[in-house]
Amino acid sequence: MRAIVVHETGGPEKLNLEEVAEPTPGPGELLVEVDAAGLNYIDTYHRGGLYPMDFPLTPGLEGAGTVVGLGSGVTDFNEGDRIGWVSVLGSYAERHVVPADKAIPIPDGVDTGTVAAVLLQGLTAHYLATDTYPLAKEDICLIHAGAGGVGLLLTQIAKSRGARVVATVGTEAKAELSRAAGADLVINYAEDDFQQLVEHAFGANALSVVYDGVGASTFMKSLDLLRPRGMMVTFGNASGPPPDISPLLLSQKGSIFLTRPTMFHYLRTREELLARANDLFQWIADGSLEVRIGAEFDLADAADAHRALEGRKTTGKVLIRP
Ligand code: NDP
Repeated sequence: MRAIVVHETGGPEKLNLEEVAEPTPGPGELLVEVDAAGLNYIDTYHRGGLYPMDFPLTPGLEGAGTVVGLGSGVTDFNEGDRIGWVSVLGSYAERHVVPADKAIPIPDGVDTGTVAAVLLQGLTAHYLATDTYPLAKEDICLIHAGAGGVGLLLTQIAKSRGARVVATVGTEAKAELSRAAGADLVINYAEDDFQQLVEHAFGANALSVVYDGVGASTFMKSLDLLRPRGMMVTFGNASGPPPDISPLLLSQKGSIFLTRPTMFHYLRTREELLARANDLFQWIADGSLEVRIGAEFDLADAADAHRALEGRKTTGKVLIRP
């Protein structure tokens, strides 16, 4: 079968399309024909070395497809079942082995492409808005990279919880998408100073929470926008990791809370995984969550997909199709 293999850290050119042996499902595992792998920013950290990995590796934590083989002891799934997964490395491939306890059954009426598009970023948006800082209608939140994969989903979930949303984006076209997702104020931070515009709109220290997946270029100014005892949620490094700071700074900025969450700790049990995924499927079914697939790339063009994501050329979700 064909898969993308990375032998050493580096740029997108390190994503090689290779012929590899088809994997065999072990006890409790499913062999899956991959219909779509989801591209996530973390894939670039794995490839590029920001998050240390063992090589060679096949990237991709997320995907959806059809079960075509069962390892011993599997009782809850059958061949032909459609499943999605997150946190199972190796999704940029024609076939993949997924532990049955990580397989998410896909309900009728939801296509596999939508599942590969919504799971990882949607589960992230879900835990950020419901648990890391549970948004309510009195809250004003700032979401950086509001037209990205997490950004568009988090904006919609925040609005459905009644919060006011400020979003930052890098282009006017992205601003349109962010507004359509429900953002109340959209700021093009490539042109305008987002700190000034937020203060102008809401006053000093007005935000309950900042959800920051951009990192280096947004972190420090974001701290200044929070209300006393507000929460800074730094959950990604799209522009590079945020700077090191002293705990004393949190006191000076208003006794603010700082957290650096990662999805793994919000999906600690199978029950938690399925409950969050089922919320997403329910919201898709009732029309309250729109999943935007901004681009699709063939498996052979995975390097171009990474170039587009790191070059800020993408909106919503990017899929890789084997
Ligand atoms: P996005 O689709 O949001 O893509 C990243 C966006 O970041 C770009 O489109 C761009 O939007 C913005 N950006 C700002 N500065 C830069 C820069 N210098 N280089 C590249 N992009 C930049 O990606 P994802 O939705 O996959 O992920 C968003 C963030 O969330 C990432 O940091 C990711 O690591 C993190 N994440 C964290 C998780 C967790 O559990 N902690 C789970 C999932 C994602 P614009 O042009 O509008 O500025």
